[in-house]
Amino acid sequence: MKPGVVIIGAGHGGSQAAVSLRQEGYAGAITLIGAEHGYPYHRPPLSKAFLKDGDGRLQPLRGDGVYESSSIDYRPGARVRRIDLEMRNCVLDDGEIAFDELILATGAVSRTPDIEGIGLAGVFALRTAVDARGIKQHMAQAESVVIVGGGFIGLETAATMAASGKRVTVLEIGERLLARAVSPVVSAHVLSRLTQGGVEVRFGTQARAFAGDEAVRAVLTVTGETIAADMVIVGIGADPDVALAVEAGLAVDAGIVADDLLRCSASGVYAIGDCVRFPHWQLGQPVRLESVQNATDQARHVAGVIMGKSDPYRAVPWFWSDTADMKLQMVGLSANADRHLVAGDPAGGAFAVYHFRRDRLVAIDTINRPADHMLGRKMIAAGYTPDEADIHAGRVSDAFRTWASEAGADGSRRVA
Ligand SMILES: Cc1cc2nc3c(=O)[nH]c(=O)nc-3n(C[C@H](O)[C@H](O)[C@H](O)COP(=O)(O)OP(=O)(O)OC[C@H]3O[C@@H](n4cnc5c(N)ncnc54)[C@H](O)[C@@H]3O)c2cc1C
Repeated sequence: MKPGVVIIGAGHGGSQAAVSLRQEGYAGAITLIGAEHGYPYHRPPLSKAFLKDGDGRLQPLRGDGVYESSSIDYRPGARVRRIDLEMRNCVLDDGEIAFDELILATGAVSRTPDIEGIGLAGVFALRTAVDARGIKQHMAQAESVVIVGGGFIGLETAATMAASGKRVTVLEIGERLLARAVSPVVSAHVLSRLTQGGVEVRFGTQARAFAGDEAVRAVLTVTGETIAADMVIVGIGADPDVALAVEAGLAVDAGIVADDLLRCSASGVYAIGDCVRFPHWQLGQPVRLESVQNATDQARHVAGVIMGKSDPYRAVPWFWSDTADMKLQMVGLSANADRHLVAGDPAGGAFAVYHFRRDRLVAIDTINRPADHMLGRKMIAAGYTPDEADIHAGRVSDAFRTWASEAGADGSRRVA
C-alpha cells in the first residue's frame, strides 16, 4: 500500500483535514499525528465554558469512533521531530512514517515574555487542555489575578475570573483593548462592560517581572507599579509553530509560506490553520489568521486540492468571542478599511460596525447581533455592499434579498 497522506497536528485543522479527505473520496492511507493526548477537542471553550463551569471535560471535535470507522490512523501523544523532504518521511521518537502528501497543521504556540519570574507557580499561558486544567485548578484558591494582554483570550478569562469574585487587573500595552481585531467603538464597549463587571484595565503598561518565592505574589510593571497577584495569565498572542518547517527547509516568513491553493514550497506539502501565511483574496496580500473557521475551511480546501481540485482558497473569514455578556462576531477583514459606520445603539448593548474600503463592504463587527453577522457572511461572499440609508433604516436584509434574487440564484453578480 502507498504511504498516503500524513497530517502533522491533530487540532481543528488536522482533524478536519483527515475527515474531509475521506468525505472527498480519498481511498489511501491517512495518518493523523498529534502531540497532545486524547482525542482532538474544541479549543475555544478552554477560555470560556471550561473555566466558567462544567466538569472539566473537553468537548471532542468529533463523535465516538469517527477516526476508526473512517480508517484514519490517529496517533495521539506522538510528536514529529523532523521532516525529511527528500526521503519523504516524518521522523518520530519511535520510528518513521512515510508520506506521499504531507499536511502541516501544527497551529501556534503561546508567546512567552522573557522576564524574571516567568517560571513561578501560578503563572500560566492558555493554549492547550493541559494549560486550561492547570488554570482551573489554581483559580479555585486564587484571589487576585493579573491578566497580561488585552486580547480575546485574556479578556474572556478576565471576565470569567471577575464573575467568580476575584480581583482582576488587565495590563494592556496599547491604548485600547482588542486593537488588532476590532474598531475603536467595539473596544470602548468591551472596556465599559468589563469595567462594570469589576475588571480593572490599565493601558500603556506591561509586566516587567513576576515576584514571589516559589509561587507568584506580585506583578511589577514597566510603569513602576507593584500589583498583588496570586495568579497571572499571560495572553500576549501566539506565534505560528514553524519549527518543523524551518528545519525541513520549507519557505517560512511569519508563518509557513503557502500559495492560494495552500501549497508550500515543496511539492505535495500543504499547510493549514494558525501556522500558515497565505495570499488573501480580500486583502490582496499574505495573512496569517487564527480562527476555527480558517483552520477548518483550509482543511476542507486542501483535501479538495489533494483530490485534484484547483480553485484558489477563497473562504470569507469569521471569528467569534464570548466575553462577559457580549457575543462578539467579526466577519471579513477590517485591517485596511477606510470608513466605518455604526448601526444600532452601543449603549443598549447590541450594535454592528460596518467597515468599508473604497466604498466597498469589507467587514462587519457585531456585538449581540448574530443575525447581522450571518447576513454579513453572505453579503461579503457575494460581493454586495449595502447602501448607507438601508443600514440606518435596518433594511439591509431585504435589500440584499432583492439584490440577490435579481442577481440570480447563484449570487453571481458582483458590485463594482
Ligand atoms: C484559549 C483559546 C480560545 C480560542 N477561542 C477562539 C474563538 O472563540 N473563536 C475562534 O474562531 N478561534 C478561537 N481560538 C483559536 C482557534 O482555537 C485556533 O485558531 C485553532 O485551534 C487553529 O487550529 P489549528 O489546527 O491550526 O491549530 P491547533 O488547534 O492549535 O492544533 C495544532 C496541533 O498541532 C500539534 N502539533 C504541533 N507540532 C506538532 C508536532 N511536531 N507533532 C505532532 N503534533 C504537533 C499541537 O500539539 C496542536 O495540538 C482560540 C484559541 C485558544 C488557545
